[in-house]
Amino acid sequence: MKAFHSILPVDSEGYYGRFGGAYIPEILHGNVKRLSEAFYRYAADEDFNRELDRLLRDYVGRPSPLYRADRLSELYGTNIYLKREDLNHTGAHKINNALASVLLAKRMGKTHIIAETGAGQHGVATATACALMGLDCTVFMGATDVARQKPNVDRMLLLGAKVEPVHSGNKTLKDATNEAIRYWCCNPDSFYVIGSTVGPHPYPEMVAYFQSVISREIRSQLLSLTGSELPDYVVACIGGGSNAAGAFYHFINEPTVGLIAAEAAGLGTDTDMTAATMKVGSEGIIHGARTMVMQTDDGQIIEPYSISAGLDYPGVGPLHSYLATSGRSEVLAITDRQALDAAYRLTRIEGIIPALESAHALGVLDVRKFAPDDTVVINLSGRGDKDMETYMKYLNPEQ
Ligand SMILES: *Cc1c(COP(=O)(O)O)cnc(C)c1O
Repeated sequence: MKAFHSILPVDSEGYYGRFGGAYIPEILHGNVKRLSEAFYRYAADEDFNRELDRLLRDYVGRPSPLYRADRLSELYGTNIYLKREDLNHTGAHKINNALASVLLAKRMGKTHIIAETGAGQHGVATATACALMGLDCTVFMGATDVARQKPNVDRMLLLGAKVEPVHSGNKTLKDATNEAIRYWCCNPDSFYVIGSTVGPHPYPEMVAYFQSVISREIRSQLLSLTGSELPDYVVACIGGGSNAAGAFYHFINEPTVGLIAAEAAGLGTDTDMTAATMKVGSEGIIHGARTMVMQTDDGQIIEPYSISAGLDYPGVGPLHSYLATSGRSEVLAITDRQALDAAYRLTRIEGIIPALESAHALGVLDVRKFAPDDTVVINLSGRGDKDMETYMKYLNPEQ
């Protein structure tokens, strides 16, 4: 069998420069080691990859189109291509990772899947994959999020998952993640599907690999659309960093391709209502990895804020901390208002309602100039159905 070779700048301990690693309690070492071994084994396994490719094609609907947005391109005076992850089954890129992870769990002989979720997108994707493969599914979700994301809670329940409300801390994503890790410690037979490129090694590497299908497709689609596999820029929003990792993956080692990450500024990086981890954070440890973290001087995690639930996280994946601090990627902070305006604009001139998260990537067009002959690929990570209430509220503020 051929060995799996990561093309990411990661060492065997899971470090991207100073970032990453596995800061976990002793009791989890066995779990994480078995996961690493299984991941490297199956990532290089022909039969596993054949089955995954079949599901991505016939179940998720891949390849997702790469669409040249003519009117948007004209408006901004450059060449804009949208990678349509919003057209995937369940409405976002999260299904790519959930499906691959649950398939891996099944090959490992696991029968019980656990996951954390914030807005519920990753919970829905994981519950979907578990329904498909006949595995038990428990989703940990902050009690605050359970109350405010009812449609996604209902979807998970309908799919047969158990939703476990978490009452600690702020009762949001960070607390749900803590609880999932705690449960995993006591139930080593369960398989933990993490929803982003965060957590202890090998999760950031594994999730990035499972999302790398995005940039693999972009390369071949661009070749047939433009005659070149390489764009000038790839732009993606960044919460934990999984859609950005997938969109950047096959371009990281191509120095002519600019990588632009859009994090959530919330009400502004000069306010305390922000989730712009890279701008306002510092090096620390969160959920098992050394990375950039929003924290006080004595290391307490600061509660983040963003209008978009998927970007409302006080950390970021270690790969992105490394890409940003080494100068390989450029990070821009996009405010709630800029994201909303970008979402309304795309809707009106292209007829596509983006997820609020993805709207942060689109907001880059208003804060950064591109040249007339640049090719700019923007990863449209998800669709906006889940955000309709917010969009209507800010469209008609008097209502
Ligand atoms: C969850 C989510 C994100 C943020 O997560 P990443 O891991 O940073 O990609 C972005 N877009 C959509 C549509 C999401 O559902």
